[in-house]
Amino acid sequence: MSSFAQFNLDSRIMSAIERIGYKEPTPIQLQAIPVVMKGGDVMGAAQTGTGKTASFGLPLIARILPHANTSMSPARHPVRALILTPTRELADQVSANMTQYAADTPLRVGVVYGGVDIRPQYDMLRRGVEILTATPGRLLDHIEQRATNLSQVEVVVLDEADRMLDMGFFDDIMRIVSQLPSERQTIMFSATLPPKIRKLAKEIMHDPAEVNI
Ligand code: AMP
Repeated sequence: MSSFAQFNLDSRIMSAIERIGYKEPTPIQLQAIPVVMKGGDVMGAAQTGTGKTASFGLPLIARILPHANTSMSPARHPVRALILTPTRELADQVSANMTQYAADTPLRVGVVYGGVDIRPQYDMLRRGVEILTATPGRLLDHIEQRATNLSQVEVVVLDEADRMLDMGFFDDIMRIVSQLPSERQTIMFSATLPPKIRKLAKEIMHDPAEVNI
């Protein structure tokens, strides 16, 4: 039987997994976690329900954990991991998972999306947050208002990339990606991998490993 112990995740991540009650990794987690931990780009074909959130979420936390600190200074809590989702429902769900996974670390987790008051989100961003989940349009609003910037992002995840393209987010995605450091890790998950997804991957990823279940 495979186990989460094989990934050499930090003990603060392992304690969260134990508390949540995940007993063994799902197939997508078995494939994706080692690659993400090594820092490589990943293109994953997986639907919701397969455990895809943890397949990028757990190793993503492991990657940025060396920066974790308890300082009160916002400058010490820049966005290090950015997760883009097509809808507020998915953003909320992903961010709730990230909150659970990072609960035993000092990393701050936050979420922003449109259709709700922008002010509390602005205040949260100004205080600093390392793991940010966002829908594209609202994130761009915040960047314009200088609530946050993406210059310290080390890992970016495009979740349900096919749905984001179907919803017309291509230009927004490219605007966001243009603000990221070119030296970064890019992870993309999509239910299917049609040509337009492969084209996007070619534009924003570097030699991605493909994981498929
Ligand atoms: P996702 O595909 O990321 O939306 O995950 C679907 C559901 O599976 C969520 O409720 C997760 O909390 C749960 N889950 C993720 N990984 C595991 C695991 N290794 N064992 C049991 N449940 C899991």
